Amino acid sequence: MHDIVIIGGGQAAVQAADTLRREGHEGRITMVSAEQTMPYHRPPLSKAGLAPTESTPSWLKPESFYLEKQIDLRRGRQAVSIDRAGRMVQLDDGAMLSYDRLLLATGSRPRHLPWIASLPADRVHALRTWPDAVRLREALRPGARAAVVGGGFIGLEFAAAARKQGVDVAVFESAPRVLARVTRHEVSEHLQRVHAGHGVQLLLAASIVHLRAGGRGVLVETSVARHEADFLVVGVGVQAEERLARESGLDCDDGILVDAACRTSDAHVFAAGDCARAPRFGAEGSLRLESVDNAISQGAVAARAMLGRPALLDGVPWFWSEQYDEKLIIVGLSVGHDEVVARGNPEGGAFSLCYLREGRLLAVDCMNRAADSVAARKLVAAGVSLDRSKAVDASRPLRECLSV
Ligand code: NAP
Repeated sequence: MHDIVIIGGGQAAVQAADTLRREGHEGRITMVSAEQTMPYHRPPLSKAGLAPTESTPSWLKPESFYLEKQIDLRRGRQAVSIDRAGRMVQLDDGAMLSYDRLLLATGSRPRHLPWIASLPADRVHALRTWPDAVRLREALRPGARAAVVGGGFIGLEFAAAARKQGVDVAVFESAPRVLARVTRHEVSEHLQRVHAGHGVQLLLAASIVHLRAGGRGVLVETSVARHEADFLVVGVGVQAEERLARESGLDCDDGILVDAACRTSDAHVFAAGDCARAPRFGAEGSLRLESVDNAISQGAVAARAMLGRPALLDGVPWFWSEQYDEKLIIVGLSVGHDEVVARGNPEGGAFSLCYLREGRLLAVDCMNRAADSVAARKLVAAGVSLDRSKAVDASRPLRECLSV
């Protein structure tokens, strides 16, 4: 019976604890979470969590879960060091936790921009935690002006939620289109039209040259224009939270390096979620994925591996985003595709893009076509070949578009 310590209080950490008990682990489980609250769902933070009516986060598990499953949840505590030789974790209150197996589910932290330190702190917002969302909500008043840096998931989902509350929004994106890192131009252009239709000012290929206090609060200066806003929302990506791993000598390279069983370079230490870089289905080399699906898969795999059970990361990754009434679901990894087949008319707003390599289906981006995403999860996993002439007919179910 092992003692297991989990550092982190997010989706991967809770999934691992739950899986450990479901798999029959009877030893001690201690979960160390820097946040004061119980673990909660993060996706709503950039959506419904910004509505004034939301008074508590949406909990991942009720309080009774931690009691009944005998999970010792240490809230508001940080692990400050790991002694791998002695298999001990030290907490910021001086407590020492011994472990037989350790899981690092430390997540990621928002990237910062230069100049931020020169801005009044109350005018600058990140959006990663429930306290961030609560603080940001207070700035959302009809007629207030928000400048958003980054046209990624955070920037666009925030823009949609803020427009619903009558806030003026300008989004500054350094790439020539939004979501350029994760999807093709058809999806970017559709979402750009939708945001523009809701009154969001999108400034693409906008390189910020300076941010400073002034005017209504914050002045955003690009190479071509100057924009005044009451407050700034920064959504320029995240960095793996790997400090503890690095300091304890574990192999890291933009993420804690793990194998397909989430095992690090130390056989007693595992990592899962945003902080881990792992080999993944359909990808060459290793990848660090920032998604709920990845945190759940890796949390479960790490838990089984910590118990010495067969465990392998083999699922097809997927991601989703909701903005206004638009739903984007991305299934699989499109890296390495040599052809794209579109189903439906991108101008019409409901379409899917099927990414192929030598005819085989690698990934599907589904814009307002949820049925395609359900089929895609099975078809991508099976590595099927698509019949292009059938697939372009959007009225035909995707599962009926295979080459025979
Ligand atoms: P993100 O999705 O990586 O997007 C960041 C965007 O900011 C990118 O388009 C990036 O462009 C751009 N950017 C970077 N530096 C910039 C600069 N100096 N000026 C203007 N634009 C700049 O990251 P995020 O939106 O901050 O989200 C943070 C994390 O939360 C991510 O892990 C994300 O996946 C997750 N999240 C996910 C969802 C969802 O899945 N629905 C929702 C919310 C948050 P380049 O790519 O060209 O650098």
